[in-house]
Amino acid sequence: MSSISRTEAVKSVAALRAGPPHLAAPVAGIGFAEDVFTPETMKKYLSKEAWKRLMATVEGGKPLDPSIAAEVAHAMRHWAMDRGATHYTHWFLPLNGSTAEKHDAFLELRDGEPVFAFSDKNLIVGEPDASSFPSGGIRSTFEARGYTAWDPTSPAFVKRHSNGATLCIPTAFCAYTGEALDKKTPLLRSVQALSQAVRRLMKCFGRPAAKVAITLGAEQEYFLVDKNFYLARPDLVLTGRTLFGAPSAKLQQLEDHYFGTIKSRVLNFMNEAEQELWRLGIPAKTRHNEVAPAQFEVAPLFEEQNLSCDHNMLVMEVLRQVASRNGLVCLLHEKPFAGVNGSGKHNNWSVAYGGKNLLNPGSNPHENAIFLTTLCSVVEAVDLHADLLRASVASAGNDHRLGANEAPPAVMSVYLGDQLADVIDQIERGELKGSKRASAMKIGVDTLPALPKDATDRNRTSPIAFTGNKFEFRAPGSSASCAGPNVILNTIVAEAMNRIAGELEAGVPLQKVLQKSVKAHRRVIFNGDGYAGDWLREAKRRGLPCARTTPEALKAFKSQANVALFEKVGVFSERELKSRYEIAIADYTAKVMIEGSCALDIARTMILPAVREEYARTLDAGEKSARAGHAGAKSALRSIAKPLGDGIAEMTREIAALEGAVAKGDAAKVLASMEALRRTADALEQRVGDERWPLPKYREMLFLY
Ligand code: ADP
Ligand code: MG
Repeated sequence: MSSISRTEAVKSVAALRAGPPHLAAPVAGIGFAEDVFTPETMKKYLSKEAWKRLMATVEGGKPLDPSIAAEVAHAMRHWAMDRGATHYTHWFLPLNGSTAEKHDAFLELRDGEPVFAFSDKNLIVGEPDASSFPSGGIRSTFEARGYTAWDPTSPAFVKRHSNGATLCIPTAFCAYTGEALDKKTPLLRSVQALSQAVRRLMKCFGRPAAKVAITLGAEQEYFLVDKNFYLARPDLVLTGRTLFGAPSAKLQQLEDHYFGTIKSRVLNFMNEAEQELWRLGIPAKTRHNEVAPAQFEVAPLFEEQNLSCDHNMLVMEVLRQVASRNGLVCLLHEKPFAGVNGSGKHNNWSVAYGGKNLLNPGSNPHENAIFLTTLCSVVEAVDLHADLLRASVASAGNDHRLGANEAPPAVMSVYLGDQLADVIDQIERGELKGSKRASAMKIGVDTLPALPKDATDRNRTSPIAFTGNKFEFRAPGSSASCAGPNVILNTIVAEAMNRIAGELEAGVPLQKVLQKSVKAHRRVIFNGDGYAGDWLREAKRRGLPCARTTPEALKAFKSQANVALFEKVGVFSERELKSRYEIAIADYTAKVMIEGSCALDIARTMILPAVREEYARTLDAGEKSARAGHAGAKSALRSIAKPLGDGIAEMTREIAALEGAVAKGDAAKVLASMEALRRTADALEQRVGDERWPLPKYREMLFLY
């Protein structure tokens, strides 16, 4: 595995630091969406009539008119070939959490003659032999048919590589029974469910029919390490995180990395990545150094959720690939390094109606009423279904982050800030009186206190923070697809909005509806420090669930109440939900077992031999000094050798324990044994001669790049 020694790795990084290896030429302009089949581009390749009908599908959500499909396919191929594409692929989001693509050339032989071909059928459905994707029992391999179906609401794009390009068509992936085998299908269903609920609610407020947009801006955190260090760390290569490693003297105590000057090598990488993202129509906007050393963030502007989720998958891919071209590795694991911040994916979520953000406190009482109703729907949803939100962010990686010192805890609470909390108090006390003016709507609430425009202080400790005009769900892990958490957010808010709309339709005054909701659900609002230990006790007292581990959290997918919720809202069938549980548990167990085996391997073949060597040398030196009559040195060397010898004995015991846990397949035991083994090994790291230590150290990985 370690194709390059640690010493060589350090040297080669030093060489890189002498001059950046890759200086991208400055590019004129942004080239935004140059490689996307946007409505504007389609216009150039399609007849007017076909374009109009296609737009009815893309923007109006109407089923695709079959009579234009052939023309659309033809246009798409021409456009893609103009950009150098030779192949096309249905691009989809299988349940293993990554993206999938199987390429076919635009090539056919007709009477032995090569012709370019891409038919309407090629565009609309695919039937990949995709039997090796996890299905959680939805299909067995003998009936392995899976279908990909074009999602026209996420535009086709061309992915370039250094000597060619591929046309990518975003698709949903289903079994032949129609059951969803991917992350996109439930997301689209949940968007539809929430959109319906929003329309129903807006009708209660007398708003004319308008377009609903569920919006998402996904901030992506990541680490960069030099590729040479990465290659010398089997744990990073196989598991994405360091399973061993003593803390460096300096970590993030000085908080000097956050928003610091971006090193030019990193800036070159960021620039190159952003230019790729822009070409793919991904509106990368913000970049900065994050809190931990070697940690960074990229944040795009928000978009409609389905597109934004697809785009985030591409963001992760582009970061990885561009890093690699720059001699770096982009680590998307939630906790690559112990003792410093982990990486999340802050999920900024909101709902717009007719182009107006419903989570923007309004400028008049009517708008404020809508704002407060939306706000209360979210609070109610989170309180009723905190278990599902927690489950939606559960993964082996995120377990090391949630509840660790810097991350939001595993308790799902909502932060509103003091000013909004005050408004909520007034609602609860029934102090928000209805309008006396005849002109106001029946549900108008014109005695609301003026809502502050920027109502919130930043609270970085809350998992679900209201940040002025959106909710920021901060618990999702950096490597996860956005689809999971958003399916849950959409589903639970849809349910709450439907319930509230039902009451309003039955003639219950808004003030009463909101008062009842606030009374029942305000326990989930917490405006204090989520990292403080007493919050956990307080949360327990309030009866808020706190699932510390993934297996615990995932139980939410099995409860009958939740099955009923998903069926009612039309997002998952019972079988689909069960399959998600099975897949998540299997993924969790597999990842922990890989870590266990990898830790064993490193401990046995890299760390123990180094410690043994150090021990033997120290004993030798002790004997030599005895022979030389250096009594002081002899006893000093003995005392140096002792913890090494003890460490060898201890590691050997701990290796045996870990081995047993791995053999049993007991994930909890594996994690505990790995932890113990790591403690011993990390202590030994600080006792073994530096040049003999086989693994790149924290101070190297985190500071030399
Ligand atoms: P922060 O200070 O938390 O980094 P920003 O203002 O930079 O917050 O926004 C973070 C993300 O929130 C960005 O991706 C931004 O586009 C997104 N965002 C802003 N408004 C909305 C909205 N209405 N719906 C969804 N996301 C939004
Ligand atoms: Mg943020």
